[in-house]
Amino acid sequence: MNKYELAGQQLLKEHVVSVKTIRHNMSGIAYIDDRAISAPVPRRPLSFAVFAHEVGHIVNGRISPRWREELMAWQFSIAQFKRFGFSVPKEVKTRMKYSLAFALAKALNRRMAKVPKGLRIYKKYLSPVTYIYGDDHREQKWHADYWKATHI
Ligand SMILES: [Zn+2]
Repeated sequence: MNKYELAGQQLLKEHVVSVKTIRHNMSGIAYIDDRAISAPVPRRPLSFAVFAHEVGHIVNGRISPRWREELMAWQFSIAQFKRFGFSVPKEVKTRMKYSLAFALAKALNRRMAKVPKGLRIYKKYLSPVTYIYGDDHREQKWHADYWKATHI
């Protein structure tokens, strides 16, 4: 096991979390009630970030609103990098930015009145889009722009 796998094992043990499914892509999910996660094997920084993020969801429990739950899971994940002495590479920062921009877009599209302070810095990764429905009814929405997250 490399240092990321060892740290991942330690997180599972410390927080009494089990792995339900091993994912072979860089996505994850947390089953809060079961204290279980689906995540990639944490062999390198990005997979460790996703893995620790999902453990963070279990540790933090359900938080309202949803964007805050996402933000806190990322804060937990980044804190684990610091704690184990791992540096946070650009691909992890980009992933976090995109993920939080996505959470912000969802919140705004659900008519959240204003951008909360904690998410204000992610607004620049959003692009306005117009949804056109069958009867030509149109709606202005926000879209998290992956291109922006990787370039700004
Ligand atoms: Zn999450």
